Amino acid sequence: MKVKNLIVGAGISGITLAEKIADELREDVLIIDVKDHIGGNCYDYRNDAGICIHKYGTHIFHTNDKEVWDYLSRFTKWHPYMHEVKGYIDGQEVPIPFNLNSIRSLFPNAVADKLEQKLIEKFGYNVKVPILELKKAEDKDLTFLADYVYEKVFLHYTLKQWGIRPEELDPSVTGRVPVYISKDNRYFQDTYQGIPLNGYTAMFKKMLKSPHIKVKLKTKFEDIKNKISYERLFYTGPIDEFFNYEFGQLPYRSLKFDFVTLDKPYFQSNSAINYPNNYDFTRIGEYKYFLNDKSDKTTISFEYPLSYQKGRNEPYYPIIKEENQILYNKYFKKAQSLPNTYFLGRLGDYKYYDMDKAVKRSLELFKGIK
Ligand code: UDP
Repeated sequence: MKVKNLIVGAGISGITLAEKIADELREDVLIIDVKDHIGGNCYDYRNDAGICIHKYGTHIFHTNDKEVWDYLSRFTKWHPYMHEVKGYIDGQEVPIPFNLNSIRSLFPNAVADKLEQKLIEKFGYNVKVPILELKKAEDKDLTFLADYVYEKVFLHYTLKQWGIRPEELDPSVTGRVPVYISKDNRYFQDTYQGIPLNGYTAMFKKMLKSPHIKVKLKTKFEDIKNKISYERLFYTGPIDEFFNYEFGQLPYRSLKFDFVTLDKPYFQSNSAINYPNNYDFTRIGEYKYFLNDKSDKTTISFEYPLSYQKGRNEPYYPIIKEENQILYNKYFKKAQSLPNTYFLGRLGDYKYYDMDKAVKRSLELFKGIK
């Protein structure tokens, strides 16, 4: 079999690229995936209770990039949705990222007043301070606050999520959820935020609609690579797997979700509650909040982090730390020497992309090949 463009992986990166190649170059594309559905880990579906479920955990689209937003808006209308997360800390549900409202919920007013004033004096208002930065503050009140937030919000959550301490990860990882000197309770401050009105899967289906695109599910690259010839290969799977682990395995983190449907309209106060210090799961997601689904029932998920074991579970996250980056760079170098072969996506680039960054990467890669 012969195909002009072969894309391995029908996740958000591969689908974006397929759409661009088909739409602008009018070239044929075969996109394959080992899963039995499109969308990769962004896949969603409506369950028997009438609730749109994100099979691989809560996905909230957010971006400051107008190009990305406008691009996806060609394939979906959006349900305007501003994500908020609560953390269960010392018996209370407080805003995460930890902000001035969190301080006020957890400390007596006089203490909150002092901490608020000191934070604003030192850093300013409406400023985001990564916890590892706040820990360096040379003030006994701010050190007290930093130690508290480190212990109650970050340490045990990170140990569960990654199996290592916050300082052992690249600072950008915990920096995703900085302490926010603000009363803004939203998880993201991006200009554009929302959930595809009919779900992610419906948006992806539209993106793949071109007659130039063929989708083959339940298909491993390994099983077809010798039976198929192609002019360009785009690989969104794990880059170390592609090279048969020649330099060693890149570490990934996996997740397990326990979904439960309850015979009551709501379970918790909002779509996501984090449990840094209790239980073995990191958070509980409640899905009807995303599209404001009407149902007498509600579906929630308990999210358990796991180490990735090839063939047993799925790689969800690259583990961003220096030694892994050094190993990745070896694969990257090797990848660059291959003609007409491109790596992209969270697993192909070994980068902790949010959905918008994955789309951006595909749009940029496309501009490069065009
Ligand atoms: N984090 C934490 N406590 C929280 C929320 C986040 O320690 O309540 C840390 C943790 O290390 C996590 C990282 O910040 O992996 C990034 O969080 P984010 O919510 O962005 O993770 P994702 O939704 O991508 O899994």
